Order: sequence, then structure tokens, then C-alpha cells
Amino acid sequence: MRYSALRLLKEGLTGHRGWTPAWRDADPKAHYDVVIVGGGGHGLATAHYLATVYGVRRIAVLEKGWIGGGNVGRNTTIVRSNYLLDGNIPFYEFSMKLWEGLEQDLNYNAMVSQRGVLNLCHTDAQRDAYRRRGNAMRLHGVDAELLDADGVRALAPFLDFENARFPIKGGLLQRRGGTVRHDAVAWGYARSADRHGVDIVQNCEVTRFRIEGGRVTGVETTRGFVACGKVGVAVAGNSGRVMAMAGLRLPIESHVLQAFVSEGLKPVLPGVITFGAGHFYVSQSDKGGLVFGGDIDGYNSYAQRGNLPVVEDVAEGGMALMPLIGRARLLRMWGGVMDMSMDGSPIIDVTPVEGLCFNGGWCYGGFKATPASGYAFAHLLATGAPHPTATAYRLDRFRHGRMIDEKGAGAQPNLH
Ligand SMILES: Cc1cc2nc3c(=O)[nH]c(=O)nc-3n(C[C@H](O)[C@H](O)[C@H](O)COP(=O)(O)OP(=O)(O)OC[C@H]3O[C@@H](n4cnc5c(N)ncnc54)[C@H](O)[C@@H]3O)c2cc1C
Repeated sequence: MRYSALRLLKEGLTGHRGWTPAWRDADPKAHYDVVIVGGGGHGLATAHYLATVYGVRRIAVLEKGWIGGGNVGRNTTIVRSNYLLDGNIPFYEFSMKLWEGLEQDLNYNAMVSQRGVLNLCHTDAQRDAYRRRGNAMRLHGVDAELLDADGVRALAPFLDFENARFPIKGGLLQRRGGTVRHDAVAWGYARSADRHGVDIVQNCEVTRFRIEGGRVTGVETTRGFVACGKVGVAVAGNSGRVMAMAGLRLPIESHVLQAFVSEGLKPVLPGVITFGAGHFYVSQSDKGGLVFGGDIDGYNSYAQRGNLPVVEDVAEGGMALMPLIGRARLLRMWGGVMDMSMDGSPIIDVTPVEGLCFNGGWCYGGFKATPASGYAFAHLLATGAPHPTATAYRLDRFRHGRMIDEKGAGAQPNLH
């Protein structure tokens, strides 16, 4: 079924009886050309582009829980392409361009809202670093504006500009950045993939890879064996566990990242604002809640819930940036399991097991990458070669020292 204003009008006048489920609840078949493990944003986007761009026909997405139950439905919805390094900028800008056409491509309202992302600076050195980053972005044709304190004040007058420790000196603004409704992204990709014949199989955990003569021939699941030509793994926080089933040890650690939402307030935030003197970022949802987050919990975990020290740290960051947040009541908080790579950048690559490809290491930033990641992973699965925008995301960069150390923070996930 195609969604349109006319369809909405017709259904509105006829009691909304004509709507059909957005995707089929498929049972696994005995054989597929490509099996995607993980029905998060990246797995579903991969299936969509495999079917629509690369013409692959028999595809299944196997998800151990339900669509949208992982990080894709748990993130703070921020999208941007304000990166510094050559390995990253073209990839994230490709993603931004895909976001800009996503709703037409999927025929689905994902609430793409380009409200701007503003990174604040609090020292002269930090302003220099932002100037450098903004220049690198503009050299790649990405929009970037350096604002002084008055420029920031015009956008967000309620911030604590004269804070004794962290005075606001300006900020780097990407106006095309913003937010996208996260679960709608999962549903939109699922619906489109399903319309192109992809089987989306929920409650189907992959428990083992069948590997014969160095080549993957299928996956064992809680719903039986599924044979296939190729397997693409996109399981985010479960990357280490799943790839260990193929005998691979990844340069990835799993950590919890928490997020928070306040009660609904009148519109106060123009877009996304990030604090430059601590780890705190905030935007306002369409329902009015302030959606915010900060650091990962420092210890390794596979639990989708975090602990109080980070809650305190995030609250301190919020209070230092915008004291008005102290008057708002917290409505909900939750956690997701992050696949933290050792240089803060992702991996989209083949593996030593023939036919087995891996997508992961997204750290804090995998949501904004969803369209480009799916596109590049589909390209890799279909052609065996990396997509032109993802040539730097090879697994062997850790062996050869060609890290993409975007934050310059070194091999410590809790510093990325
Ligand atoms: C609190 C929080 C805030 C965030 N904020 C942002 C943000 O503002 N901007 C941004 O760009 N990024 C953000 N991120 C990061 C982003 O959400 C992730 O990097 C991205 O969603 C990961 O990819 P995914 O959507 O495919 O993951 P997921 O949705 O987690 O998908 C992986 C799926 O694999 C499934 N799976 C695991 N093991 C198996 C198995 N054995 N068999 C079958 N299925 C399996 C899981 O059930 C899961 O559904 C945030 C993350 C969190 C947790």
C-alpha cells in the first residue's frame, strides 16, 4: 500500500478500515541469497538498498527481538555530518544527503527535521579547533558556520553565557543537521524492504554460523537452520558476541549509553545543542520533552540499562549549560548497548570467513550513519568491494595503524 494525502483522506472518510500491516510477519525460508543478522536501523537499511539499488532478490533480516527494540529505537535522534577527518566526512555527508531524500525514497514520514546542530566552544583553543573542523567540512562541500557568542545568544538566549568555569565563546553550527524520529526510521526501512520482497523475521536469534571449508553456508537460529550465500552481520552492541561465533575477536567493547527525556515544555530549543566543556547534548522533541544524554557508563556491559553516576554527571552537564533544565521533571530514562571501536570510527568490511561481512563499531554515532551504512554495506555484500565513501572503514586498519581517530582521544572508548 502506498501512503499519500489522498489515501489518508479516503481512510479518514471510511473509518480507517483499509490500512494493512506495514510489513509481513515472515517465517524463515530454507535458503536465501543474503541473510542480514540484526533488524536494527543498519540491518534494515542494508536490506532496503540491497533490494532497491543492487537488485538482490532473496533476502532475509533475522532479528532476535522485535524491529526497533535495539539502539535504533533508543538513541537521541541526532543526525549531522560535521566531521573533521577525510575518512569520515564524505561518508557522513553521503548519509546526510540520503536523510534529505529518505521520506520520498521510503514513502514514509520519518519526521526528518533539519533544525541545526550547534557545538558550543568555551575556550579560545576550542574555537580554533572548531574553525579547523568547519574549514575541513567546507572543503568537502558540507555546510558549516562559526558563530561568536552573540551569534549563539541570538539562537539560544537562555544558555549560561557567563558561567565562571565554562563561559560560552561561540559555536560551530551545521544548519542541515537536526533530528529524525528514530523508530520511524526502523519502520520505514522495514516497510520498504518488505514491499521489495525482503523477509523480516522477528524473534529469530542467530546462535551459530555454519562454516564449511572457510566459507559461510548458513546460520543456525532459534527457528531452525537457514542456508544462504552470504551473511551480513549488523548487530551493534552484540557485535563481539556474534562475531565470536565465527571465531573472530573484534577491536570493539560494549558499553551502555543512557538517554533521558523531560516532561513536555513549550518550545525552547531551536535545534540540537552540545556542551563543549563536558559531555552533554540536548534537543527538544515534537511533544516538547527535552531529550538529552552524555557519556557511556565506563564499565563493559550488555544490559540495556545504566547506573546512577552517569545520571549525576549528565545532570551536572545540563545544569552548567542551561540552568533552566533543573526546573524540568525527568519523565523517562533508558539505555542501549553501544559497540565502541578503539578509534571511535566504524567498520564495514569483509572478514577472513568467505561470504561473511561485518558492519559495526558505531560508538555514539551510528544513528546518523544509518542510511549510508546500509547503502555501503549493501554495496559490499553485492559487489565484494567497499563503497567509495567507506573505503577507510576496513578491519585491518587496527593492525596497520591507519586509525581514523576522529576525536583524537586514543584507544579509550570512554573518551570518544
Ligand atoms: C541512548 C543512545 C543514544 C544515542 N544517540 C545517538 C544520536 O543522537 N545520534 C546518533 O547518530 N547515534 C546515536 N546513538 C547510536 C545509535 O543508536 C547506534 O549506533 C545505532 O542505532 C546502531 O545500529 P542499529 O540501529 O543497527 O542497532 P540496533 O537497533 O541495536 O540493531 C541491532 C539488532 O541486532 C539484534 N541482534 C543482536 N544479536 C542478534 C542475534 N544473535 N541474532 C539476531 N539478531 C540479533 C538486536 O536485537 C538489535 O535489534 C545512540 C545510542 C544510544 C543507546
